[in-house]
Amino acid sequence: MNKTVLVSGGAGFIGSHVTVELIEAGYEVVVADNFSNCDRTCYEGVKKITGREDLPLEVMDFCDPEAVKALFGKYHIDAVIHFAAFKAVGESVEQPLKYYRNNLDSFLNVLEAAKEHGSFVLFSSSATVYGEPDSVPVTEATPRKPATSPYGNTKTICEDILRDSVKASGGRLKGILLRYFNPIGAHPSALIGELPRGVPNNLVPFITQTAIGKRECLSIFGNDYPTPDGTCLRDYIDIVDLAKAHVYAVNRMVDGRMKQACEVFNVGTGRPVSVLELVNAFEKVNGVKLNYKFAPRRAGDVTAIWADPSLAESEMGWKATRSVEQTLQAAWAWEKHLAGK
Ligand code: UDP
Repeated sequence: MNKTVLVSGGAGFIGSHVTVELIEAGYEVVVADNFSNCDRTCYEGVKKITGREDLPLEVMDFCDPEAVKALFGKYHIDAVIHFAAFKAVGESVEQPLKYYRNNLDSFLNVLEAAKEHGSFVLFSSSATVYGEPDSVPVTEATPRKPATSPYGNTKTICEDILRDSVKASGGRLKGILLRYFNPIGAHPSALIGELPRGVPNNLVPFITQTAIGKRECLSIFGNDYPTPDGTCLRDYIDIVDLAKAHVYAVNRMVDGRMKQACEVFNVGTGRPVSVLELVNAFEKVNGVKLNYKFAPRRAGDVTAIWADPSLAESEMGWKATRSVEQTLQAAWAWEKHLAGK
């Protein structure tokens, strides 16, 4: 019988792409979401891409312990991937309690249920846990730094919660932490992609919305950083590549190939790209002119961070395969799809 994976936040940007890859790899998937930060577009898109009209959807809030217990009682869940969380850095600074309450409570409920039922846990962590690293690229052994926002801190705290609970569980709980770098792009079908509410915080949705005419001008935050062209360096990882990393991680867990009860992997390309390089690549590959200007630095941005992704390759056999150009083409196709063009 096929193994079943529960994807909390499965209707969101990353969750929907992961759901597609899991189904294509032969897993049964249960999507759970409360649609607090997305609509049904991506859930419908996933059904279309996979031909799974019967894809189970549970509309629920992971902060409700009874609802989470009931969910784990209803399905036999071999592994759970937890995405259901708030993710706006700026909002988390203004409303820390909302972020700590939501992001920690939901994860605690998932862990309690996973421990009870012997389900493997995959947690969506972030390169934000490295802060401004002393040297780049960062490996999984690079020391974490204090987070610069409550959002980032919830990632660090959830990592610790998983590690501590695994350690104390006597083998009942096992999990993998994936630290994402900068996920961008969209599914090549252009049926699912990023759907930011309001003004996008992230670079690529801002670029595509500017190119389509929804925003007047892109501000590049800072061109006086100590980098080759003065703009920040990041590791932009294609969303489909990133989604596939989850399949490799779930395979590793359910096939009994974990070497430790709690493992950590960077999910990045190993390739630093500056903001200006990304903007230029977008213009070139899509044949569009982008209206942009240089603006002051944005508070909290680190100068440069990119992954050493070699552990994920040597241990799980995963590595990123798509070029920045392919990814930016997919992001543009998605924006045009949304605009009905
Ligand atoms: N950025 C920018 N203009 C924007 C949004 C982002 O210049 O409108 C820059 C930001 O300063 C950073 C990079 O793009 O250097 C990536 O930012 P994003 O918010 O996408 O991800 P982060 O690395 O902050 O998680």
